[in-house]
Amino acid sequence: MTGLKPETLLAHAAGADDPATGGVIPPLQPSTTFLRDPDNAYRRGFDYARDRNPTYAPAEAVLAALESGAEALLFSSGMAAATAVFQALRPGDHVVAPRVIYWGLRKWLLETATAWGLEVELVDTTEPEAVRAALRPGRTRLLWLETPANPTWAVSDIAALADLAHAAGALVAVDNTVPTPLLTRPLELGADLVMHSATKYLNGHSDVVAGALVTRRADEELWSRVRTIRHDQGAILGPFEAWLLTRGLRTLHLRVRASCGNAMHLAARLQHHPGIERVLYPGLPTHKGHTLAARQMQGGFGGMLSILVRGGERAALATAANVRLWKRATSLGGVESLLEHRASIEGPGSPAPPNLLRLSVGVEDADDLIADLESALAAAVKGCA
Ligand SMILES: *Cc1c(COP(=O)(O)O)cnc(C)c1O
Repeated sequence: MTGLKPETLLAHAAGADDPATGGVIPPLQPSTTFLRDPDNAYRRGFDYARDRNPTYAPAEAVLAALESGAEALLFSSGMAAATAVFQALRPGDHVVAPRVIYWGLRKWLLETATAWGLEVELVDTTEPEAVRAALRPGRTRLLWLETPANPTWAVSDIAALADLAHAAGALVAVDNTVPTPLLTRPLELGADLVMHSATKYLNGHSDVVAGALVTRRADEELWSRVRTIRHDQGAILGPFEAWLLTRGLRTLHLRVRASCGNAMHLAARLQHHPGIERVLYPGLPTHKGHTLAARQMQGGFGGMLSILVRGGERAALATAANVRLWKRATSLGGVESLLEHRASIEGPGSPAPPNLLRLSVGVEDADDLIADLESALAAAVKGCA
């Protein structure tokens, strides 16, 4: 299956079918345990479902191939995948992570990882000099990146930062949830690990919570500890969820392309709207990270954008209250468009501006999405007047 384009790999789920029946779709294997041969061997390669489950194979093969990695592992959630990487380090290790980052991971790093003994330093990773200053040669074990990053879609230079980190003896892991491997392949840019919340674009239908890690080198010591953590701590995905994830992956390219097109259309239209102060989208030339994003992302700037509503928090909440088509909900990367007042879900201490609405743009008709948002903005102005 090598040499095939991502679209073909995805549509065929990397060639998965059912050899036992000829079914063109890979089977779902819910068994928790597997038969030993009479001579006591496990010749078929499966013994207990916390070690390995055959239903994981197609999704792991697709993700490893798409990310140009050696191996992929599915996890029970994006957070289970991300935290496995940090837990594979040792207490006392120093790690550098972005200040603008998925809120849940930031919280875990500052509360749990710090209590466990990791020294966590949050910096502005859009500034290579800030990262260079934070890296401590010989002590920093990991540089974590997320780009474009929640919820301002700040763009960090993976290739340049990987060079800096490697020179200091640190590994680099990238949360690639938002761009997906169709738009950015961090391992090709020098990163060592890629993490996904497969809950988002990879599954794409808002009906599975899942995570994944992909490694550039299967013989990396950190990777073998990650494998052990999944096994020993049992952060495994259920077989039905793994099967649904494979099903979702088959249309990833179609969904990502549609979301990117819609998001670009929306951003271009909304940036001139009188009810909006600013549109944050890497596809707009006015975005600070645009030039870098144009180089680092291929085929689109992603389906995520944020708007800063004129009139402060009250106007932002009123806009959210008045949408009909957009769904007021957290999460992202589904076929249906979601809108969220980010400061409300992040709570006190959130770095999200109080007038920020985060938009996850789905695959609906772009004009329908714009019309609904424009009427919500108009209703908000009326309500706040
Ligand atoms: C949702 C998300 C996560 C966490 O993933 P879960 O599947 O919810 O555990 C991590 N990073 C990013 C960028 C996300 O959007």
